[in-house]
Parts: sequence; C-alpha cells; structure tokens
Amino acid sequence: MNIQAELISIGNELLSGRTLNTHGRDLGHALSAIGLRLMRDTTIPDEIGTIGDAIEDALGRVDLVFVSGGLGPTVDDITRDALAKLLDQKTILHQPTVEIMTERYAARGRKMTLAATRQALILETAEALPNSVGAAPGQRIAPCAGKTLFVLPGPPNEFNAILNEEIVPWLKKEFSGARPLFVRIIHTQGIGESDIVTILEEAAFQPEGVELGFYPAMGKVEIRLTARPDLKGQVAEAEQTLRRLLADFLDRD
Ligand code: ATP
Ligand code: MG
Repeated sequence: MNIQAELISIGNELLSGRTLNTHGRDLGHALSAIGLRLMRDTTIPDEIGTIGDAIEDALGRVDLVFVSGGLGPTVDDITRDALAKLLDQKTILHQPTVEIMTERYAARGRKMTLAATRQALILETAEALPNSVGAAPGQRIAPCAGKTLFVLPGPPNEFNAILNEEIVPWLKKEFSGARPLFVRIIHTQGIGESDIVTILEEAAFQPEGVELGFYPAMGKVEIRLTARPDLKGQVAEAEQTLRRLLADFLDRD
C-alpha cells in the first residue's frame, strides 16, 4: 500500500523568514509513523489564485492533500475563500462551533463578534474536525476530485491537536493495511561522506530495494537504511555488510 500525501503551507510570514515552518516536520513524522508518505511540502503566500492553483495541482498528484493556515478572522485569512472559489462551493456556518465559541466568549464576560464568527465558516461539503485548543475547526472534504482534502489552522498547537486527535485516528482506520517503512541506523565517526562513498563504491555496495540516506553532522555521519517492511531481511543483510565495510569508523556512543 503506497498512500501519498502533500502539504500546502500558506502564509507570507513563512516565506519572509519571520516564522519557521514546522508543519512539514510534524506532518511527515505523523504520517510516516502510520505507513503513509509525505511527498511534498509547498509553501505559498496568502494569495487566492496561488492557493487555488497549488491545491488543484496537489489533488492531481496524490491521495491526501493537507492545507494549513489562513482560517482565522483577519483580512489575510483567505484560505476558505480560495477553496470556495476552486471547488465552486459556498461556505456555511458550522453551528456547533458557533455555540462552543459563544460559550468560551461568555465565560470570559465577552460577546461573540461578527469577525470571530468567520472562524466557524466551513465549506458546504466539509466535515468539521473539532479544534480542542482554538476556534477554527479543521475540515475534511471528500471526495474532492476523487481525493481527500484536509484543511487545518496555522498555529502549530492547533494544527497538531487536530492532526493527532482527529486525522491520525481516521487515517489509521481508513488505511489499516498501511505499514511504516523499516529503518535501521548506523553512526560513523572520523570519516567524511566522500570517503564513505568511496569505500561503498569499491565494494559495489548497492543493496536491492533498500534506500540509503547519509546525514552528516560535526565529524559524524548517520547512515539510514530504509525499505518496505517485507524487505526486512535485505535491510538486515545490508546493515551487516555496511558494519563490516565501515568497521574502523563505527561510532559506538
Ligand atoms: P489564526 O486564527 O490564529 O489567524 P490561521 O489559521 O489564520 O490562524 P495563520 O493566520 O496563517 O493561521 O497563522 C497563525 C499563526 O500560526 C501565525 O503566527 C503563523 O506564523 C503560525 N503558522 C502558520 N503556519 C505555520 C507553519 N506552517 N509553521 C509554523 N507556524 C505557522
Ligand atoms: Mg490568521
């Protein structure tokens, strides 16, 4: 089972360098843990046309598309308008969200404003995904061009709450046959990447079906061997060979 996903991160501040985009890391981690693959993380500005184009392109490529940011009450929060235009749908007020928000405002002795109410707007065909730490709910729109589209608020604590509390359990059920990739890790020290590669090339080390990743940092290199779970045997064999070839440089910390 090879279920692929893409993330579209929306926000001028992510492109100007003001805010570090953490959603790709968090989504990649959550999806790979349940055997699904994040294939692309596209960061785009708060522009209706660009948002629509990016979503349409991603829906043409993968099964699951995640869109984050721009669901708040301010003028730069235009994600739902972009979606309404792209999908030719209206937005509707999600009454349970309005009620929760009204109660929260009342508890603080305040009245709900019209601007705040905008956060409870969802696409006509969307299922609202409760947001336990903020106002705007997440949304699941499916089928959407035959695919599934998730829309999530930008603040990382809200993005992660909806992802972990609502979306991951749904994905686990929907794709119960998916299995995480099998990974083995070797650490070396006192040898650079190019010398490692030379040793591997001279030994014609090219394990079938096993993906190799090299991650250097401060005089050490982490080598990751990754494969489908049914190729566990090949990974174990490749790890043994690698440990033998690099025996003089293994980091035993
Ligand atoms: P809000 O209702 O808070 O406005 P929103 O859904 O409209 O939420 P944005 O306005 O796009 O989201 O962003 C809200 C906050 O979350 C901002 O401080 C923004 O920098 C941060 N944020 C948005 N996207 C990301 C991201 N991909 N990684 C990290 N932080 C992000
Ligand atoms: Mg906002």
